[in-house]
Amino acid sequence: MASPQVIIIGSGLSGLSLSIFLTRLIPTATIKIYEVRPSTHPSTTGTINLTPNALRVLDHLGIYKSLIPQGFNFDNLTMLNHQFDFLASIPIAGVSEFEYQSLRIERRIVHSALLEKVQGQPQVEIIYDAKCESVEESDSTVTVRFTNGTSATGDILIACDGIHSTVRKSFVKDPKDFDPKYTGQISVGGNITKAQIQEYNLKNNPYPMMMFGPEAGKGASFMVWPYNHDGDQFTFFTTLSKPDEEKDWKEFSDKQKLKDIMQETFLSEDSPWNEMVKKTVELSDVDSYRFWPFYLHSIPEKFYSEKARIVLIGDAAHAMPPSGGQGAAMAFEDAETLAYSLAGVLSTESSLGTPQGLEIMSKWSEHRIARMKTIQELNRRMADMRKGSTGSTSGVMFTVKVWAIWVLGLLGVLGRTRRAINNYDANKEAVGWLGEATIGKLE
Ligand SMILES: Cc1cc2nc3c(=O)[nH]c(=O)nc-3n(C[C@H](O)[C@H](O)[C@H](O)COP(=O)(O)OP(=O)(O)OC[C@H]3O[C@@H](n4cnc5c(N)ncnc54)[C@H](O)[C@@H]3O)c2cc1C
Repeated sequence: MASPQVIIIGSGLSGLSLSIFLTRLIPTATIKIYEVRPSTHPSTTGTINLTPNALRVLDHLGIYKSLIPQGFNFDNLTMLNHQFDFLASIPIAGVSEFEYQSLRIERRIVHSALLEKVQGQPQVEIIYDAKCESVEESDSTVTVRFTNGTSATGDILIACDGIHSTVRKSFVKDPKDFDPKYTGQISVGGNITKAQIQEYNLKNNPYPMMMFGPEAGKGASFMVWPYNHDGDQFTFFTTLSKPDEEKDWKEFSDKQKLKDIMQETFLSEDSPWNEMVKKTVELSDVDSYRFWPFYLHSIPEKFYSEKARIVLIGDAAHAMPPSGGQGAAMAFEDAETLAYSLAGVLSTESSLGTPQGLEIMSKWSEHRIARMKTIQELNRRMADMRKGSTGSTSGVMFTVKVWAIWVLGLLGVLGRTRRAINNYDANKEAVGWLGEATIGKLE
């Protein structure tokens, strides 16, 4: 296909990354990104943790080095119990073993670095205030309709429209798989400065910290995590069990209510928690509070449509709760591996509808589904660990959990799980279904 017309829905982390890879791998492509948000507010707020597998993609995109001085770079996560006793230091990342440290950073900084890169590409146009309503494919084209009555047609459409994806609804066959499922957990947290709480870090334990409580009802876990380069601005959060899903979660947009929840959980008279946790909650500014309900998408049979003209990536394909800190990482990995695959399909005589083209898409999709299942399992284990064991007032379960963490840390088992996550290199993986020769030609 001489000059493929690519449509991307959503200019979030996956949509922007994909477009940059495509300009490099298919220089003849014209790429239009349609985004519902206005150009004045292109990104959401908050902080994210990026593990080496995510940072490797950002490095391949040429933006990683610019992010290093803008976030908190670290290797280990300190695990403590509610009394502030040290349990383990878990290796999360590190240059010698994984090529990269881990990076906690404001999401808007990552987004604007990607955006800046996209804006330098003449083949890419971003159209804001454009809400996709539906998509439809034929043998040779794909058409997207917008809520303002307009439409656009291209050769291929990539759904990067996030957890509440509209494209997913036109794509996934079973209506019960349209919407993400609530997992029964919520996260509540806010921001605090190091200056406000350092005096309560009596043993000078290194940040970031994950603390475990003795009883789910009194707060199962509490995280304190720096997010700027100097490590003096912290985000803190807890995961709470909330079995019933709210219809619209409107009540939780009240920041005072969120702080009240934290106070009830961590500052009650019989609270078992250490001073650092108590002071973090007590001294935190109510305006900094945020809340997230945890949702999970079922993984579709494949990530591309019948005629392979519609492809799902990122949260649209496989949104997962933030407990494993891998959602953005998976979106980045999807973007890079898909870009290689599309370049493999479109740069040869084969095209999307041909058996050769379909075979490449099928192998890419199978590979990504297998990866996603591994990551979702890890996510589930992390969520269980953060949630704690409900009603374990006897403390027996808590003791077991604490020792399990300590022993696992000692044996480096958690470190080995990390290797499976961190060492993923999209470029090397794509050789598996495209072959050395094709990848060599694309680079
Ligand atoms: C609280 C929280 C903490 C997280 N922490 C981490 C972390 O530490 N590490 C990590 O790796 N991941 C984390 N994640 C997950 C990560 O943020 C997501 O997985 C990632 O943003 C997914 O990227 P995406 O491009 O698929 O979707 P998004 O980044 O959500 O982008 C989707 C884009 O599509 C646009 N859009 C939506 N609908 C339409 C439409 N109909 N038409 C046009 N445009 C549309 C949206 O406006 C948005 O710009 C966290 C998520 C949450 C909620």
